[in-house]
Amino acid sequence: MRTPAGKECKYYYEDFHRGRSKQECRLLNASGEGSKWHPDDCSNCPVPEILLANACEHMELSARIVPGFIWIPRKVEVTAYCNEHDLDVQDPYVGCQHCGGRGAEILRAIQEGDL
Ligand code: SF4
Ligand SMILES: [Zn+2]
Repeated sequence: MRTPAGKECKYYYEDFHRGRSKQECRLLNASGEGSKWHPDDCSNCPVPEILLANACEHMELSARIVPGFIWIPRKVEVTAYCNEHDLDVQDPYVGCQHCGGRGAEILRAIQEGDL
């Protein structure tokens, strides 16, 4: 679904049908921070770019709101975990190094007609 910031995000949900007015971030909901979320947070959130850069099905994202302070803007901070290899993912844009290796193998097999 397209966020208020105009980017696709699978965690964004809205419902304005039949008088309803519901907007939520289901990633922050899952992290227990849903009540802190505001639609403006989507404009300063890295998740849409992370999802574009790395669609690994084993990577699970978590997010929290980091409050702003004077000149430092409020932001959504994201961490990632690989459920397949049980490790913290250092760079969610790149993904788990083990899954990345296997993804490259699968891609090569598809290109070579083995899959
Ligand atoms: S805050 Fe980030 S993860 Fe949540 S709906 Fe907006 S763009 Fe998606
Ligand atoms: Zn992995």
